[in-house]
Amino acid sequence: MLASKFLATLEVRPVGVSVTHRDLLAGLNIPLLDEGVDDLTVLEEMVRGADPGIIGSAGARYFGFVIGGALRVTVAADWMTSTWDQNAGIYATSPAASVIEEVVSRWVLELLRLPSTASVGFVTGCQMANFTALAAARHAVLRKAGWNVEEQGLSGAPRVNVVLGAEAHITVYAALRMLGFGTKTAVLAQTDEQGRVRAESLRETLQGLSGPTIVCLQAGNVNSGSFDSFPETIALAHSAGAWVHVDSAFGLWAAASNQRRHLVAGIEGADSWATDAHKWLNVPYDSGIVVVADSAAHRASMTVTAAYLQQTAGGERDNFDWAPEFSRRARGIPIYAAIRHLGRSGVEAIVDRCCDHAALFAKLLGEQEHVEILNDVVLNQVLVRFHAEGRDSDEVTRAVIQQVQNDGVCWLGGTTWHGMAAMRVSVSSWATTETDVRVSAEAILKASRAVRGLSGNRE
Ligand SMILES: *Cc1c(COP(=O)(O)O)cnc(C)c1O
Repeated sequence: MLASKFLATLEVRPVGVSVTHRDLLAGLNIPLLDEGVDDLTVLEEMVRGADPGIIGSAGARYFGFVIGGALRVTVAADWMTSTWDQNAGIYATSPAASVIEEVVSRWVLELLRLPSTASVGFVTGCQMANFTALAAARHAVLRKAGWNVEEQGLSGAPRVNVVLGAEAHITVYAALRMLGFGTKTAVLAQTDEQGRVRAESLRETLQGLSGPTIVCLQAGNVNSGSFDSFPETIALAHSAGAWVHVDSAFGLWAAASNQRRHLVAGIEGADSWATDAHKWLNVPYDSGIVVVADSAAHRASMTVTAAYLQQTAGGERDNFDWAPEFSRRARGIPIYAAIRHLGRSGVEAIVDRCCDHAALFAKLLGEQEHVEILNDVVLNQVLVRFHAEGRDSDEVTRAVIQQVQNDGVCWLGGTTWHGMAAMRVSVSSWATTETDVRVSAEAILKASRAVRGLSGNRE
């Protein structure tokens, strides 16, 4: 009831929120009591207290960051996941969760056209997918150098070179930090005007390095949506003996689309991939996926052993072999529901629709005189900059973003792209329609007129 009521408000509620921290605390910060409270009261009061601070990202007009919605069937599947309350860590604690994740693994590999022999882990998000993949990479490159990092640690280990594109996502750095590589030791290959790694720079970087090496590439730049050129860069890295990891939180899903697959051509030649299900597959948080071609390295970097863990007899899947967690939620279940519900064509349709919507945004905004589209719109991301005569465009752009957020028709965030302030549009929700895009573009243009002091009039 409470959930349906919320979903029904998504169409009309302001997408962003204007509530203050203090207001939210006033509704939610109840003293811890000795006595408990009945179920319904808890839920009703919690929902009432939280509502003013709930962002409409499950709705159709949220274009901030890169955030998907949640397909209805995945919300229901997620509810079943909680109802079943399985510990998905071990086959013995949930045979069903294990088998579902085994099946989903196969579907994911097929859908995203990755090697059928690769191993798959279900993690909380792409940050942990990057972490897991790079742990497998760390294992493999050090093993080749005669070092068992899981047993011997990193002190005294051969130095591992880590090469990143200059626009690697911050979560790759977070993964490096957690893996003991540090963030400042990474060597950066230069990127081009769209944020893609320059093959020439990668070649030069690799020439200057020797020993165990990991190269991180990117499918779907978080600002521009651009893709590194995989055939070229993967070949370069492999000829230098490096492990190639691709951070492809949303970009990997281009592989599910006939029209967009060319963007990820050659990506299947990498050694590991990190992606999200909570972005483009539109399952509820939290849901990331890690794929590793060398399943032995994947397992060696994650597995644990204990006397009370029985060996499974028939090759049954213990999920703790493939993810950093031990006990955990059966997060493969909503992914199962999403893929089963959508089929290949449904996943493709979401990807294509979001990309078409992004192109429409770029057209509707870009054809206006005071608006500039900064990136090649190859995927679902659009970078928009606003100008006004005699004024600083950074300031104008930030003011337009603020105005749009205040209006509440849609929500978009800002970024700095190659030194310029920009509005960042990301179309990642299954729910967004062409009408939502037109209404939102009009709201953005209205805000831009207001900032330029031309209230009301069309350009
Ligand atoms: C979103 C994103 C991440 C981080 O994913 P989380 O699911 O938020 O952990 C990493 N890399 C890229 C390119 C992303 O877009």
